Amino acid sequence: WALQANIQHLGNNSCNKSWTGKLAWENKTLQPRHTKKVFCMYVQQASKSKCKVAIKPLELENTKEPPLNLYKPKGPYTASIVSVERIVGPKAPGETCHIVIDHGGNVPYWEGQSYGVIPPGENPKKPGAPNTVRLYSIASTRYGDSFDGRTASLCVRRAVYYDPETGKEDPSKKGICSNFLCDSKPGDKIQITGPSGKIMLLPEDDPNATHIMIGTGTGVAPFRGYLRRMFMEDVSSFKFGGLAWLFLGVANTDSLLYDEEFTNYLQQYPENFRYDKALSREQKNKSGGKMYVQDKIEEYSDEIFKLLDDGAHIYFCGLKGMMPGIQDTLKRVAEQRGESWHQKLSQLKKNKQWHVEVY
Ligand code: FAD
Repeated sequence: WALQANIQHLGNNSCNKSWTGKLAWENKTLQPRHTKKVFCMYVQQASKSKCKVAIKPLELENTKEPPLNLYKPKGPYTASIVSVERIVGPKAPGETCHIVIDHGGNVPYWEGQSYGVIPPGENPKKPGAPNTVRLYSIASTRYGDSFDGRTASLCVRRAVYYDPETGKEDPSKKGICSNFLCDSKPGDKIQITGPSGKIMLLPEDDPNATHIMIGTGTGVAPFRGYLRRMFMEDVSSFKFGGLAWLFLGVANTDSLLYDEEFTNYLQQYPENFRYDKALSREQKNKSGGKMYVQDKIEEYSDEIFKLLDDGAHIYFCGLKGMMPGIQDTLKRVAEQRGESWHQKLSQLKKNKQWHVEVY
């Protein structure tokens, strides 16, 4: 681990704060933690310290295009697992894990891209053939959680199967790759492909732009990467001064993902970050129904539409099922405002403001 080597000391402003400490959730420490020094730039007026990790820039900062498909399914890269942590509380329905993978700097990526994972074993649908690739959004910045450009993190929900008739779990039908990932142990080998995807890249041409991020469950993954780049890392080529607004939809408080990290940004960058949560099983919308992300979007629709008119980027990531409800809400809001959603959407797409990655 070349962590310390990458951290530049900034003299007396060192606040000795450990960001890795922020990543440790209760009961889940499977890996010895590396502590790093993080440095604070004190803002006198706000009397709040802004702690960022000073980063030694990778060459990736200088390229115009992101790395793409460096490793393909026929020639995957063999990486190894650094850590697997359950990141939801006991009352969360289902299990979600934060998985750190060591790629040794050989599978570089940009924020918003995905890795493919080829789980070991035979493809049950094609006996004799290997399992097919599954895609996972990368949940870290290009520097990885250890800030050295050698790791990538994934946020994986374990796919389980419940028999619709008995309501009982049927382990013979559980998801192959997500269970392989969530059950893996530090040091295990893992075949990866990619990186892939350009739709969710963070446009960095305007560092003062507005980014509205709408994620459900593991759909938060690319947004965690964006936000770490904006608020956790001190990178000379990207000094974010715009607005990042995250809407996160999950079932309940125990299902919140990376909440501590996001809450920290809220405290440190109240002018640059907004964070709204929709907890479907705990909160009610204004009609007394379950609170979904689209209800939060509706609550702030005037502001969101104005920001979009001013050029904001909007991103959606999570399960496919999230989109119809969101699109219906946006359409209804547009109509109430006397606008055509059809026209507005095609304009947003034309302007490259609209970014969707659902699965
Ligand atoms: P599979 O083995 O492929 O099974 C799929 C589903 O079928 C499972 O729910 C399984 O329980 C069910 N099943 C299996 N056998 C049967 C049967 N006989 N009858 C009925 N049902 C059955 N996922 C994440 O968790 N995090 C991410 O960040 C993420 N990012 C993604 C990004 C992209 C661009 C895409 C396309 C997908 C992403 N996914 C992500 C989804 C991921 O790729 C996988 O689809 C997911 O993990 C399930 O894969 P699996 O191998 O575990 O399940």
